[in-house]
Amino acid sequence: MTMALRTEAIETLLVEKGLVKSAAVDALVERYEQDIGPLRGSRVVAKAWTDPAFRARLLEDGMPAIRELGFGDNTDAHVARLVVKENTESVHNLIVCTLCSCYPWAVLGLPPAWYKSAAYRSRAVREPRRLLAELGLDLPADVEVRVWDSSAEVRYMVLPQRPRGTDGLGVEDLAALVTRDSMIGVEQL
Ligand code: FE
Repeated sequence: MTMALRTEAIETLLVEKGLVKSAAVDALVERYEQDIGPLRGSRVVAKAWTDPAFRARLLEDGMPAIRELGFGDNTDAHVARLVVKENTESVHNLIVCTLCSCYPWAVLGLPPAWYKSAAYRSRAVREPRRLLAELGLDLPADVEVRVWDSSAEVRYMVLPQRPRGTDGLGVEDLAALVTRDSMIGVEQL
């Protein structure tokens, strides 16, 4: 093999290896964004809907409560408090990080790209009601919107309202109804 051919072969191999590596990273990120993260949060929510004592502990202090379910084991959990805000008939909660992209990793995994956008970060505070309406969530005028600004020390998660007509469902079926966006507060179930 000539030196040129040899170089080309090595180059090709490196590119291939690089592609494999970046695909693997993408898959990992996607997994955290779509599976591990929201799924954990969904189970926390479903548990809170079905177990009033757990719900009370969760609202009192989020991190110890999610540890009961085996979550909160990632780095985020060691540095930040988790504060859970419950939606009711009269109060709707929305989470944001105005400074950067702080997010409750322990339960929701990685934030979606729009959560980190300048538009979301500023509008969530300036005009949350209008932002929510544009996202398809038209809240009645008598519902108070509360916006929670995350930080390195405190991460927020929304406990959405349990959908009507779900009385007979168990924890697993309920968890399947809970979306990531409902736990950020940009969607109602
Ligand atoms: Fe941040």
